[in-house]
Amino acid sequence: MQHIDHSETVTQLRDTVERVCNDFPGEYWRAKDRERAYPGEFVQALTDLGLLSALIPEEFGGSGLPLSMGSEILKAIHEFGGNAGACHAQMYTMGTVLRHGNADQKKRYLPKIASGELRLQAFGVTEPTAGTDTTSISTMAVRQGDHYIINGQKVWTSRAEYSDLMVLLARTTPKDQVKKRTDGLSVFLVDMQHAKAHGMTIKPIRTMINHSTTEVFFDNVPVPVANLIGEEGQGLRYILSGMNAERILIASECIGDGRWFIKKARDYACERKVFGRPIGQNQGVQFPIARAYAEVEAANLMVDHAAKRYEQGKPCGTQANISKMLASEAAWHAGEACIQTFGGFGVAEEYDVERKFRESRLYQIAPISTNLILSYVAEHELGMPRSY
Ligand SMILES: Cc1cc2nc3c(=O)[nH]c(=O)nc-3n(C[C@H](O)[C@H](O)[C@H](O)COP(=O)(O)OP(=O)(O)OC[C@H]3O[C@@H](n4cnc5c(N)ncnc54)[C@H](O)[C@@H]3O)c2cc1C
Repeated sequence: MQHIDHSETVTQLRDTVERVCNDFPGEYWRAKDRERAYPGEFVQALTDLGLLSALIPEEFGGSGLPLSMGSEILKAIHEFGGNAGACHAQMYTMGTVLRHGNADQKKRYLPKIASGELRLQAFGVTEPTAGTDTTSISTMAVRQGDHYIINGQKVWTSRAEYSDLMVLLARTTPKDQVKKRTDGLSVFLVDMQHAKAHGMTIKPIRTMINHSTTEVFFDNVPVPVANLIGEEGQGLRYILSGMNAERILIASECIGDGRWFIKKARDYACERKVFGRPIGQNQGVQFPIARAYAEVEAANLMVDHAAKRYEQGKPCGTQANISKMLASEAAWHAGEACIQTFGGFGVAEEYDVERKFRESRLYQIAPISTNLILSYVAEHELGMPRSY
């Protein structure tokens, strides 16, 4: 495979993201956090610069950049103080339509997603009862003529209120009627406005972070057969094929968070004087920051390695999972070091450390929790018995 040097693109992307982030300082994020409000202006600024459509091929109006460039965009957003949680899903959910949608679906949706006319931010997989056990979901889609009728409930469907489309996973054959539990699941592209007018209800869940997450209820919601992605019954395969990209992109945000915490901690440690000298002169303050730096940069190498394998079309499940685990833990440790360096001011809202601290905790739980990553590695990489 031909090696393309993207270092100039990375520099340009980072400069662009830094400029956008400078227009949205801490006060902006603190106000949104306080109100649990959607950072629509920030998302619009990223959209206008084409940053959210970076991975959409040029023929559909995007920039056609490889995954590693999406990764750099998300690293930079978080490193320069932004939060991509309000819009990151578009980068990976779009892949479901791109890889598995038919020609008509791609032509109909991708250019509008690229231009920002349609927002594809919602991803409805998790259900309250099934939890991580995705094959046990019970939301049903039953075919009636040229529609599927959807009944059931999703939970943690983030950004559902701010999205025009949702990638939805539902059962088209009940679990007890399929040979393999992974069969009988199908993916739909749901038009949210139409669904809201025909039986879909969205209920926000208030959480310790500003993530616009919700519960979504489906009561006889009709979805046209034309909006089935790929083949009926094969949907889990399509969702799984997007998960490596999702893990790598979320890991990238964690790298950005980690770098933000380290810079913040380093600067404060050098400026703050107690006992007549900078607190950063004490090794007890320096070492946790230096250790966090080492962890974040090591995790970053794994993220880049996973992205490269993904781009080369090589299997990358293990690398993508490990990079998400290491990056989320490294960011959390950097947050710990930062909050401790700030002392009392670490918990004061105006320094943004406590907010970032809360925000960065999510990624050890979602989109997949650390235990499930470890069982993946134990089973698929180390050949140990499946534990569940
Ligand atoms: C803020 C937020 C946003 C989210 N956004 C979305 C979204 O947009 N779309 C979407 O579909 N989902 C979303 N999720 C859901 C997320 O992917 C799940 O929360 C996550 O996968 C964990 O599933 P769960 O919460 O059901 O935990 P459970 O499956 O109930 O697990 C609970 C705990 O038990 C552990 N556990 C479970 N089974 C095992 C096992 N066999 N071995 C060892 N440990 C085990 C888990 O690791 C976890 O720590 C979001 C979640 C949050 C909190």
